[in-house]
Amino acid sequence: MKTPIYAFDLDRYYDTRRFEALKAFAATKQTPFLLIDLGRIAERYDELVREMSFARPFYAVKANPHESILKLLAARGSSFDVASVYELDQMLALGVEPERISYGNTIKKARDIAYAYHKGIRLFATDSESDLRKIAENAPGSKVFYRILSDCSGADWPLSRKFGTHPDSIYRLIGLSTRLPVQPYGVSFHVGSQQRDIGQWGYLISTCRYLFDSAREFNVELKMINLGGGLPAQYFDPTPPIALYASEIRRFLEEDFGKDLPEIFIEPGRGMVGDAGILVTEVVLISKKSQVNPYSWVYLDTGKFGGLIETLDEAIKYPVYVDKKGPSQKVILAGPTCDSVDVLYEQFKYELPVTLAEGDRVYFLSTGAYTASYCSVNFNGFPPLTTHIFED
Ligand SMILES: *Cc1c(COP(=O)(O)O)cnc(C)c1O
Repeated sequence: MKTPIYAFDLDRYYDTRRFEALKAFAATKQTPFLLIDLGRIAERYDELVREMSFARPFYAVKANPHESILKLLAARGSSFDVASVYELDQMLALGVEPERISYGNTIKKARDIAYAYHKGIRLFATDSESDLRKIAENAPGSKVFYRILSDCSGADWPLSRKFGTHPDSIYRLIGLSTRLPVQPYGVSFHVGSQQRDIGQWGYLISTCRYLFDSAREFNVELKMINLGGGLPAQYFDPTPPIALYASEIRRFLEEDFGKDLPEIFIEPGRGMVGDAGILVTEVVLISKKSQVNPYSWVYLDTGKFGGLIETLDEAIKYPVYVDKKGPSQKVILAGPTCDSVDVLYEQFKYELPVTLAEGDRVYFLSTGAYTASYCSVNFNGFPPLTTHIFED
């Protein structure tokens, strides 16, 4: 049994004055929508650059591809990790130079590699022989980095198994690369998204050390480590501050590589934009399934298909805020669509005020990542989630 949530401490997530300003901005807008606090993303980017001065940031576009966010990060000097030719086109249309873009998806069609190459992309992730050969053929001379398989333990949203390959296979891929027109450039990994165990980076960084050493058997001098994503947003379960991630990761790197580090890339998605979003919803219906059932169902005007897909298996537990105070009760939170999957939290009981009523607003904090970009097009006719940008 998990401990239920009894108190909501807004201070952990927001300065009260700023939150009030956001709420006032949101007041005139019709729910549901995602409110993005652009200033927070700027602060986070600057913090990351300051704390992780040893690393070059590639924002993972998929986390939130809203144009205002991409423009802000581009203006601040960020590079970008794209997963498809569509994200690539979006970045190029904003005037971002191909030198600042990495094609980080290991699952690519040959014609998409050729397209990216034609547009000037020269940096590709890979984790299989077939993909490597496709890169060699369609993007000759490009730099490739090899993605290590990681089991993602400790992550709230693991990406395990699907991506990466065993270090022994990478060793073979490096060997094969020496016979192909590609430049073996570095190694990458992803510790799993919302990684709360910083030690996971340590383990994978030592695997990088091993691969740097074994690459020398092929006379290959690897030059880069891509630390991937995994930096957290602040949800219900606490995580250490970003500064601690940064100092620990630096320590792991220096333990294995000394002071003279190779080029280090990071690809923050969730950690860059997660905390900057507030998904504003409204209570549609409150009901009980029977007289004796202790829990009320609270149905909101958005759910799993309207931006909250990461509540699958109740993996991500967003902080939920309502304006009313006073005595509270445990409830089940659900979305408005006609699919039974569209229940947000049933095992894990959120406590909301007993006075909560239909028409009241319910705010999901830390929803800047993987919400707007993850929502359905018009299941049940509900339109995709709107985003409003708050700039102060
Ligand atoms: C999704 C993804 C990221 C971003 O991960 P977060 O945990 O959201 O920071 C980074 N790199 C790659 C290759 C990804 O697929």
